[in-house]
Amino acid sequence: MKAKGIIIVLSGPSGSGKTTLAEMLVRHPALKQKLCRSISVTTRPRRTGERDKRDYFFLSEKEFLRRRKAKKILEWTRYLGYYYGTDKDFIARRLSRCAGIVLCLDVAGALRVKRMFPQRTATIFILPPSLKELYLRIRRRAASTTEAEIRRRLAVAKEELNAARRYDYRVRNRELKKAIERLVRIVRRRVMDTAGN
Ligand code: 5GP
Repeated sequence: MKAKGIIIVLSGPSGSGKTTLAEMLVRHPALKQKLCRSISVTTRPRRTGERDKRDYFFLSEKEFLRRRKAKKILEWTRYLGYYYGTDKDFIARRLSRCAGIVLCLDVAGALRVKRMFPQRTATIFILPPSLKELYLRIRRRAASTTEAEIRRRLAVAKEELNAARRYDYRVRNRELKKAIERLVRIVRRRVMDTAGN
């Protein structure tokens, strides 16, 4: 990837609040709009309330596989039966106008991006307040999530929590306000310096 810029990767179990934190991070006044969000492509069906091109680029499996074959996907994963991936051109375009980009990736994706760009990547794992709270948060999404998927998401979440120690930073999302402050501090300290402001 030719474009310069820093890469912030957030991971955390489903229901950890990482998507909300990613949104808040890019809009945070202290970061003066230097960060942009990445939008992944996925073959997973759209959930209630989600919008194409804002939350994800929702693709058919055929289209995803075509792009992957054409080497247009920087990294990808298969998660609970669906493909998710980071589009190379999209990231390059965003990095040409932003000092940094925020990606929400699963554990495998986060570690892969860190290996690809070790100097410019900061990996941050978002920890839920507790396993019980995580369970409740995943449940709360139940209206657009089936019972079987809830169980699978919980199982994956428990596994993901074990990977937290392989990240550069860990932030516990007990209180949104505190968690975002901690994230902003990490980004400012570690990252805005390297970007030369
Ligand atoms: P969800 O279905 O809850 O939106 O996402 C499922 C998991 O896939 C989450 O851990 C999310 O961070 C991860 N994910 C979303 N987009 C990508 C991507 O482009 N690459 C990778 N590796 N993981 C992704």
